[in-house]
Amino acid sequence: MMVEHERFEDFLESIPDGLPEYLADLEIQSIKDNVPIIRKGSQHLIRFMLELKKPLNILEVGTATGFSSLFMLEFLDKKAKITTIEKMEERALKAEENFKKIDKNRQITLIKGDAIEVLDELVSKGNTYDFIFMDAAKGQYINFFNNIKKLLLPNGIFITDNMLQEGRLLDSRYTVVRRDRTIHARMREYVKLLLSDKDLKTMLLEAGDGMAVSVKK
Ligand code: SAH
Ligand code: MG
Repeated sequence: MMVEHERFEDFLESIPDGLPEYLADLEIQSIKDNVPIIRKGSQHLIRFMLELKKPLNILEVGTATGFSSLFMLEFLDKKAKITTIEKMEERALKAEENFKKIDKNRQITLIKGDAIEVLDELVSKGNTYDFIFMDAAKGQYINFFNNIKKLLLPNGIFITDNMLQEGRLLDSRYTVVRRDRTIHARMREYVKLLLSDKDLKTMLLEAGDGMAVSVKK
């Protein structure tokens, strides 16, 4: 099954997607620098959901060097705003540089800091979003979840990336090497939490490295 999935990703990669050159360049550079940006399958899903939902207030957890923010910007209304959170100083600086170059209308706001604290602040400010993309430290997804729910508007879309951890999520916990066991357990717990939540409807997809698409009732 994973073989077919990899073939699907390769297939997607072989199809021209019409991304502007700067994005294609940033994608290549990020991969070279080992920055874990969203894969083609994830790009397809996000792009489709943006076209469908046409959100105006987007929140992203995990900016890295800004590829996914700039990618999303391509498919958003000129009035739409993206707030994106990154805790690694070096990556945040790089992202800021990229935003300055490309985001001429200042639609993207970068918040430097740990999402654990930043999400608290956004909640206490009463901020709300109609589209949230979570793409940060997988082990922390559970800790972000309550705040994410508060920040998400009714009918809002919430997408989680890297659900499958390159397929390891599907393995039995007994076959997972010790150092991966905690993250494996936490991710499985997160899947259960998402799928059993009464305020959200969630669909798990194989796209990219596994994604969950949730909609708030
Ligand atoms: N969304 C980006 C890739 C993000 S990679 C893209 O597709 O282009 C995940 C990023 O999340 C990393 O840069 C990492 O530093 C950041 N991150 C991890 N845990 C975080 C946390 N608790 N708060 C803020 N950022 C975090
Ligand atoms: Mg990711």
